[in-house]
Amino acid sequence: MRMRSTLLLIGSFLLGMTMMAAQSQAEPWPDGKQAAVVLTYDDALSSHLNIAIPALDAAGLKGTFFVVGSQLVPEQIPLWRAAAAQGHELGNHTVRHACPQANYAPARKLDTSDSYDGEMMLAEIRTMNTMLTAIDGKLQHGFATPCGQHLAGGVDYLPALRASGLVRYTRSAAWPGGKVLDPMDVPCRWFDETATGADMIAAVESTAQSGGLLVIGFHGVGGDYLRVTAEAHAQLLAYLKEHSDKIWVAPLSTVMDYATSHSGN
Ligand SMILES: [Zn+2]
Repeated sequence: MRMRSTLLLIGSFLLGMTMMAAQSQAEPWPDGKQAAVVLTYDDALSSHLNIAIPALDAAGLKGTFFVVGSQLVPEQIPLWRAAAAQGHELGNHTVRHACPQANYAPARKLDTSDSYDGEMMLAEIRTMNTMLTAIDGKLQHGFATPCGQHLAGGVDYLPALRASGLVRYTRSAAWPGGKVLDPMDVPCRWFDETATGADMIAAVESTAQSGGLLVIGFHGVGGDYLRVTAEAHAQLLAYLKEHSDKIWVAPLSTVMDYATSHSGN
């Protein structure tokens, strides 16, 4: 499954008069739902444990949390383990979050991927997989590229990662990505700190109209950095819960497994 390089068409139903016929023949998501929404949270932040996960649990929704090994606080490991046991997904976000220095400009970051090569990066991803297995007991994990970049020493390591079979999928590309969904280069949409719940809900509604997939990326939620407010996050979750009849919310591994097994390719 993880080796599959299947490409699939998403949101291809906007073909005028053929739209209704196409949808009636092949619903893209389970139970006739109009859209898939994935809530992803990066960097293993305290606000994920303190705010995001309790909010998700209250709404009955599951998220995907991309963990950076060097950011893990030992005392919080039981909390991550418990989150995984409840159905939230833990994903690989490398051990050291190395990405190009250019992403940190003007601040100087000592630990950048400029000093890596592809082999080093894949070795680090393999080590992070092992750390995750120690936490959640799962043998396979998905991956999110640090800073949305997949350069090591200036060379794209995505082809080598794809060939390695180390990860189930890669969340990587900037939004909106292309019309063809590549499970090893999944686009993600980010919102800035001024985003309201209405802004995020509008993105969900737009996705529902096109029958597509919306992967939302969060860092801090009501705390930490690059945060959205807890209120905006709660408003989004309330909307998703209220519209669960038409919007499918699931961890990214679940959605990718479904998409690749229903691609028809
Ligand atoms: Zn990150």
